[in-house]
Amino acid sequence: MNALDLAGSHARLRSRPPLHLADLTPAERVRAVVERGHPGFRAKQLATHYFDRLTRDPAAMTDLPVAARETLAADLLPPLLTPVRTLDADQGTTVKTLWRLHDGALVESVLMRYPRRATLCLSSQVGCGLACAFCATGQQGLTRNLSAGEMVEQVRAAAAAMAAGELPGGPGRLSNVVLMGMGEPMANYARMIAAVRAIVAPSPEGFGISARNVTVSTAGLVPGIDKLAAEGLPLTLALSLHAPDDELRSELVPVNTRWGVAKVLDAAYRYFEATGRRVSIEYALMRDVNDQAWRADLLGELLAARGRGWVHANPIPLNPVPGSRWTASEPSVEAEFVARLRKHGVPTTVRDTRGSEIDGACGQLAGAEDE
Ligand code: SAH
Repeated sequence: MNALDLAGSHARLRSRPPLHLADLTPAERVRAVVERGHPGFRAKQLATHYFDRLTRDPAAMTDLPVAARETLAADLLPPLLTPVRTLDADQGTTVKTLWRLHDGALVESVLMRYPRRATLCLSSQVGCGLACAFCATGQQGLTRNLSAGEMVEQVRAAAAAMAAGELPGGPGRLSNVVLMGMGEPMANYARMIAAVRAIVAPSPEGFGISARNVTVSTAGLVPGIDKLAAEGLPLTLALSLHAPDDELRSELVPVNTRWGVAKVLDAAYRYFEATGRRVSIEYALMRDVNDQAWRADLLGELLAARGRGWVHANPIPLNPVPGSRWTASEPSVEAEFVARLRKHGVPTTVRDTRGSEIDGACGQLAGAEDE
């Protein structure tokens, strides 16, 4: 890239994403339509097309006058994401999409179809500022936050792909959303929660996906956890713990130096108390780093000490990131780790590693692509 191109791309990176219907609350949507000289009820029509029929194509909006649909769609449903590339795995039931945003930034989302559900793993930021040592996105640094519209568009695209039967198994419904793609959702709180509200609101205000099926995953930003607990939504919280002791956790998840293990587990417990939702503890098993039996016991003790029935452990074999010195635990070590957690009364399920061969698995969303 020459100097001029570089300057140009920096200028583009500074510009904000265009406004989108999904950035607005239902009341603000009505106001936006009225301000543009249309009757307020057009907001509901527009939202129905977008959230219910999953389209932003004005030609499909035959219940709106031609001029109105052209201007409203151009103004409030701009094309925020352009697919650059898709990769699939697991006989087509896992699809990773690399998206280009309006300013050239790249993010990824991964759609996974299972027999009885379909889950979208979406990105909340371009890059990430938390620098977790084992995470591909953590090595990139933070470029910028995604807007609510940019997050919601990932969901619409996935829901539309499911509805159109683009994944094997015929037409289906997107049932689950996990904020486990690139970025730290709690570091982009206001836009993240606006997107989540649009994901869970019943049609035509949102996609009507059950809040119980929406998981917000965090590396442990305690104020964000407490804020989420006060939203009055039965969302699932996932806490990326990865170590039960501060010494190791501060090395793996640097934000631990700000909110340590005890503080973050207390916040997770408060989340359970406020919402009644069982918290998931994420734990990427790294060979000879965090997979020792004593660490399983310590984790089991810390979780059990806070109560029963409030938590669920989700160990996952580490997806090795190129250039990193860490690798996944041996299967027998993993089995022992799981057995010890269960012995402490902690329900434990090993998470699957769908899409690892297309770098679509957890923490592998590097978005690396030469422009
Ligand atoms: N920033 C948020 C959400 C994005 S990461 C968070 O930290 O929770 C989503 C999940 O993938 C987290 O649990 C994260 O710790 C995990 N993860 C990151 N890199 C990984 C890797 N290389 N192997 C397995 N899991 C990884």
